[in-house]
Amino acid sequence: MIENTGFPARRGAMEYVCLGCGATFGIEELLYTCPKCGDVFLLRDTRFDALAEIPGAVWRDHFDARAASKVTALRGIFRFYELMAPVIEEEDIVYLGEGQTPEVEASPELTERIGMRFAFKNDGQNPSASFKDRGMACAFSYLKALVRRHGWDQVLTVCASTGDTSASAALYAAYVGGPVKSVVILPQGKVTPQQLAQPLGSGATVLEVPGVFDDCMKVVEFLADNYRVALLNSKNAWRILGQESYAFELAQWRDWDLYRTCLFVPIGNAGNITAIMSGLLKLNRLGVIGALPRIFGVQSAHADPVYRYYRESAPGKRVFTPVAVTPSVAQAAMIGNPVSFPRVRHFAGEYEKVGGPGSFQVIQVDEQSIIEGMLLANRHGHISCTQGGECLAGLIAAKKCGLIEDSEYAILDATAHSLKFIGFQEMYFENSFPPQYEITPDQTLVNKPELIVTPDEKAALPPAEYTALAAANIVARLGLVAKK
Ligand SMILES: *Cc1c(COP(=O)(O)O)cnc(C)c1O
Ligand SMILES: [Zn+2]
Repeated sequence: MIENTGFPARRGAMEYVCLGCGATFGIEELLYTCPKCGDVFLLRDTRFDALAEIPGAVWRDHFDARAASKVTALRGIFRFYELMAPVIEEEDIVYLGEGQTPEVEASPELTERIGMRFAFKNDGQNPSASFKDRGMACAFSYLKALVRRHGWDQVLTVCASTGDTSASAALYAAYVGGPVKSVVILPQGKVTPQQLAQPLGSGATVLEVPGVFDDCMKVVEFLADNYRVALLNSKNAWRILGQESYAFELAQWRDWDLYRTCLFVPIGNAGNITAIMSGLLKLNRLGVIGALPRIFGVQSAHADPVYRYYRESAPGKRVFTPVAVTPSVAQAAMIGNPVSFPRVRHFAGEYEKVGGPGSFQVIQVDEQSIIEGMLLANRHGHISCTQGGECLAGLIAAKKCGLIEDSEYAILDATAHSLKFIGFQEMYFENSFPPQYEITPDQTLVNKPELIVTPDEKAALPPAEYTALAAANIVARLGLVAKK
């Protein structure tokens, strides 16, 4: 029933399912929210149960064999085709090298310092340098299928972004080209210069509005409700599907054994943690993994609506209230009213049914610990962004409150590449954070370049003497010992 060469022949039958009223809709059209009640969708394969008739061991062998596939469409997130979007044809799959990101174990010194073994899964090693490419590869593959089916001659893709969604959307749109044009809407001054450069370089139309991400999102939702545009925010359920690949990969990397493993995931709009829980539940349902790993969502105290919701331990008493965010170095997660909150609530419930109470938790950390989480990781050979730093801060906090045992293993989602957020490192080193961040540099973590010869000194010296002076200053600075 499953073949190991070529592109898979079996197709699923997918439909949108509304999380609010349960209504279902066909996938011939791109829908974002339920026309009946306005709630968000999940995508469901109505033939999924047939997959569960195949033993988990067969699936494991199948996905392991597929890791060697020479079919381009199966090299990235679609390695797990049957579990993700088994309605997309090979010719529509867009592959820019996303997925299959490395999981790098913490260096020996960092392991010793934290007191347990853990790893970063480097999702910054995706093509636009964040995990958003996983979802975008799936959403654009579906969009390409729609364009082909309907013969559309123009498709305007739009998204609001804290920086990485727009970088990714613009990249994929630029690659697909033809009728597909990208428009990104950004909160002015609230994305890093690197993140702003990305959609500009990809040739997208970049529109800025004053305010924060939540303000942008409202504008984009209005556009999607009233005009013919393709919305690429994680409201778009195809993105969630693509992001499930993170869960499949980490299970495969650990040879399908996630017993006594804890995952740490930063929560912003909550699409990523939704996708990870959904993916793990699928693997569990098929018997591909036995135990579910525990999942810890992490939020900054400056943008923590999901944490506040779950802080109330009695499920009946929980009330969701959006929060007004204040500046955060975990800027990609600086969201007060997460679009995917209903999805988190749904999957957290499902997850705890299988994994038991406490298998899903949310931890709150402060800004100081987030930036220092990033700096600490990167001083030990990692390439973590601030949100990856937030995960490390979450791990440290969870250990401190006794939520984790030293003998467990943690996998931290380094959601973007450190270089995207490098301005925050500079602000730390220069002690130039505005007061709202509440960050005071620890001098032992500060690093700065040192000028060894001044331009005036250089200008005044002949070349040979300049070299001698520079070398002498370096010898003195480093205390070098001459060769015998
Ligand atoms: C988008 C993003 C997040 C937040 O993910 P959500 O799915 O919105 O919860 C975290 N880190 C980075 C680097 C991101 O780009
Ligand atoms: Zn509905």
